Amino acid sequence: MTTPPDLPHQVFRQAVEQSALAISITDAKANILYANPAFERVTGFSQAEVVGHNESLLSYKVTPRLVYETLWAQLKRQRAWNGLLVNRRRDGSRYLADLIITPVVDGDGHTSHYLGMHRDVTEVHRLERQVQNQKAMIESVVDAAQVAICLLDERDRVVLDNQEYKKLIGDLGREPASILLTHLREQMGSEFDAARARRRAIHHREVRVDRPGRLSGHPPRWFACAVSWFEEQDASAEAFYEPVRRHYLLLTAQDISELKRQQEAIRINSLSALLAEQERIQGLRETLAGAVFQLEGPLNTMTAAVRLLERRREGNGEESSDTAMEAALRDSRAALETLRACIPDQATEAIQPLNLNEVLRDVLKMSTAVLLGAGVIVEWNPAPELPTVPGGATQLAALFRQLLANAIEAMNEQRASDQNQERVVRLSTLPHPDHVEVILEDSGPGVPEEWRYKVFEPFFTTKGADRQHLGMGLSMAQETVARHGGLIDIDPAYRDGCRVRVQLPVGSSATAPDSAAPQPGYVAGSPDAARRNPGNHAGESK
Ligand code: FAD
Repeated sequence: MTTPPDLPHQVFRQAVEQSALAISITDAKANILYANPAFERVTGFSQAEVVGHNESLLSYKVTPRLVYETLWAQLKRQRAWNGLLVNRRRDGSRYLADLIITPVVDGDGHTSHYLGMHRDVTEVHRLERQVQNQKAMIESVVDAAQVAICLLDERDRVVLDNQEYKKLIGDLGREPASILLTHLREQMGSEFDAARARRRAIHHREVRVDRPGRLSGHPPRWFACAVSWFEEQDASAEAFYEPVRRHYLLLTAQDISELKRQQEAIRINSLSALLAEQERIQGLRETLAGAVFQLEGPLNTMTAAVRLLERRREGNGEESSDTAMEAALRDSRAALETLRACIPDQATEAIQPLNLNEVLRDVLKMSTAVLLGAGVIVEWNPAPELPTVPGGATQLAALFRQLLANAIEAMNEQRASDQNQERVVRLSTLPHPDHVEVILEDSGPGVPEEWRYKVFEPFFTTKGADRQHLGMGLSMAQETVARHGGLIDIDPAYRDGCRVRVQLPVGSSATAPDSAAPQPGYVAGSPDAARRNPGNHAGESK
C-alpha cells in the first residue's frame, strides 16, 4: 500500500499514537515492538515495559488453548482475526479484551509484523451477560408460572408465550389468545377499546369458553384474564436516532375451571332445592286452583237456580226469605273463598341480569340423570357471547326445565310406538339486537296444528287430566315468559318434531316479579291464552 501523496508519513504515526484503541505492533513471533499510550492506559504496562516481550504476557492463562490455536491458524493464512481474550493487567487484575490482529504482509508476500488493536469490553460484557441472565431468569419464572402468559404484537401475533400457554393451544384447539381476546372484546364492548387506547390495564375478567357439542362432551373452561400494555423502543439501527415505539399486549389467563365447577355444583344444588320447593308450591297452587275451578262451575249453576227460584217467588208475589238453599249457597261461596285464600302465593324473586347460556346449562346439568335415563341425546349449541336478560333466575330455570321435561316426555311416548327412533334434543341460544332467543327442538311427534293455540290454555292437556298432567305446565311457562316481557312460540314450519322458541328481551322491560302475576285459578275463568298474551302463539303440551 502506498501513502497518499498529500498525507505525510508522520500522520500515520500520530494517528496510531493518539488512537483511543490499545495498539501494538509485533514481529512475526508476536514479540512487541511498539505499543501506543492507549495500550498503557488499558493494560497498565508502559511501552518500555512491554517492548521485547511476547504478547502472551497479557494472557491471564484462562483463555482456552483452542482459541489461540484458531487465532494463529487464521493469522498463518494471512487473515485478520477478531475475538475475545481474558487479559491480565500489570496490577494482576483481569479484563476482557476485544482484539483484532491484522497480519502486515511485506512486498515478498511474507508476514513481517502483526498489528494488534484491542479495547477493554469487561463492562459491556458484564451488562450483556446481566441482560441474558435476567432474560433467562424471567423466561424460567414465566415458564414455571401456573398461569398462561403470552405477549402479542400490534397485529395480535403471539411473539412470546410460556409452557402453560402452549398447553392451552392443545386444549382449545386454536390460538388461545385469539379466543380469549374475542370473548373479552365481546364482553367489554367499547370499554376494551378505551382501555387499549389509554393503555389502561384490565384486571381479572372471567371468561367462559364454551365448546359446542354433546352434553357430556366438553365442559366449559373458565379463565381469569388480565391484560396490560407496554411500549418498546425499536432496537434496530434505523431507529437509533429516530426512535420507533412498538406496542405489545400482555395477556395472562389463569384456568379457574375447577373453582367454577365447585361453585357451579353448589349453585345447582341450591337451585335444585329451590326448584323442588317451587314445584311443591306450584303443585299445591295447581291442585287448589283446579279444585276452585271445578267447584266454580256447579256453584255458578246453583247460583243461577237460586236466582231463578227467587224471581219465580217474586213473580208469584211471595215474600223474599232467606231459604236454606241460599244459606247453603252463601256457605259454599265462603268455603270456596277460604279455599281460594289457601292458594299459596308464589315466592317473589329479585330480577337480575342473567346469561341464558348459564341458566340453560344449569337446567341441563340438573336434568342429566333424566336425560340419560330416557336415552336422550342433547345437542347444546350456545352462542359464544350473549347479552344478559333481566329475569328471575329460578323462574327461568323452572321455565326451561318445564320445556325440557315436555320434550323428554313427548319423545318417551314416541319410544313406545317406535323403538328405533333416535331421541334428540337440540338446544341453542341466539343473540339478537333487542332480545335473546332460545330454541328447543325435540325429535318427538310434534304438536298437531289444531292444538297450537289451545295447549297454552290452563288445564288443557292432551293426556287426560291426572295427578301428573293437570295441563298447567305450558300455561305456567307462558305466564313466566309474559312476565319477563317475552314471547313463546312453536315454529309451525318445523316438521321433524317440535321446535319451541322463547324470546326474552335484553334490557329492563321485564315486569314485576311473580306475586303480581295472575293466579292460576283466576286465569282459568279468563279468555284464552292468546288473548292474555297478544302476539304469543301457542306452545306444546305433552
Ligand atoms: P503460546 O505458547 O504462546 O502459544 C499457544 C499456541 O499458540 C501454540 O500452541 C501455537 O499453536 C500458537 N502460537 C503461539 N505463537 C505462535 C506463533 N508465533 N506462530 C504460530 N503459532 C503460534 N494473547 C493474549 O493472551 N492476549 C493478547 O492481548 C494478545 N495479543 C496479541 C497481539 C498480537 C499482535 C499477536 C500477534 C498475538 C497476541 N496474543 C495475545 C497471542 C499471544 O502471542 C500468545 O499466542 C497467547 O497469549 C498464548 O500464549 P501462551 O504463552 O499461553 O501460549
